Amino acid sequence: MSNNKKLIGILGGGQLAKMLTIAASRLGYKTSIFDPNPDSPAFAVSSSHTIGSFKDKEKLVEFVKKLGVLTFEFENIPVSSLSVLSDIVPIFPPIKALAISQDRLHEKEFLRSLGLKTTKYFTISSKSDFQEAKTKIATSAVLKTRKDGYDGKGQFFVEKNTSEAEVLGTLNLGPCILEEFCNFQKEISIIVARSQSGEVVCFDPSENIHKNGILLKTTVPARIPNDISINAALIAGKIVNSLNYIGVMGVEFFLDASNQLLVNEIAPRVHNSGHWTQNGCLIDQFEQHIRSILGWKLGDGKRYANVEMVNLIGDEVEKALHVTDASVYLYGKKDVRAGRKMGHINYVSQEK
Ligand code: AMP
Repeated sequence: MSNNKKLIGILGGGQLAKMLTIAASRLGYKTSIFDPNPDSPAFAVSSSHTIGSFKDKEKLVEFVKKLGVLTFEFENIPVSSLSVLSDIVPIFPPIKALAISQDRLHEKEFLRSLGLKTTKYFTISSKSDFQEAKTKIATSAVLKTRKDGYDGKGQFFVEKNTSEAEVLGTLNLGPCILEEFCNFQKEISIIVARSQSGEVVCFDPSENIHKNGILLKTTVPARIPNDISINAALIAGKIVNSLNYIGVMGVEFFLDASNQLLVNEIAPRVHNSGHWTQNGCLIDQFEQHIRSILGWKLGDGKRYANVEMVNLIGDEVEKALHVTDASVYLYGKKDVRAGRKMGHINYVSQEK
């Protein structure tokens, strides 16, 4: 099949790919989705799809031959698979950003190499590493697997009296880091976009509430002083520039007790804490990402409303049926499961 400049490939077929597809379609582009799950929500709106494993290089090569550009909607795609594809199709965001975000240790080392602050952390490869690191952390701590963690998976909150036996389940999942617990005032995040010509724009920072590692609610404007907002944008800009990044990235922060911003995590993709942009801005994060990977100029992401985005998790999805005064997004996932993101609602009020 010949390559089609107007066909965007997306690795991963979840809700992010679904909303990217809708944005691409508005701009006159089609998407083709690759995902192992035959019930992927994005298949409902894409023009074609391939069901296959992200490790199946042959199938991936066949998939990308027809594309103008390739992007991805989640982090845990093997870098070795993508490296094979980069000779055939342009891939944005850059593979380097994906590789960094896949390993919490590399991510922290990268952030610190830019002079940015993170929580204090220790590398854990064995039980004795864990015992030693625990003695060096004054407060509580969080044990996290270096790889494959998302939505609170692969994380264990450690107290002073937590025994080694209690953390074995997490330690056995593979190499970990032990992070000092941050008694944050707030969690905030910022969605940044960088174009192919190096233009960088940020959406307004948002204030986020998580429970068990899962995002529950995002509020804009974040109730933070202006200098902290500006600082968050400068940090995000520094990160994307250092990577020659192309596309949208989510940068998550802890605002600690002494008003310092610690970078918690970077996500080289559109981000759940950016869903508010769908109803708060002229150009939302999904269109911004599509614009960027197509080599277009970035759009106007100025916020013109106050928005509260509430995730619908597990059976909360039923609440959506009763909502008539807000914008409801249901992802169309086949099975309702506890802890699974099923949709979200954007409550909008006039900007004050
Ligand atoms: P993560 O997967 O690292 O983004 O963690 C998910 C959520 O768990 C964060 O958004 C926080 O709410 C909480 N969390 C993770 N690490 C820490 C930490 N070191 N201190 C306090 N809370 C944390």
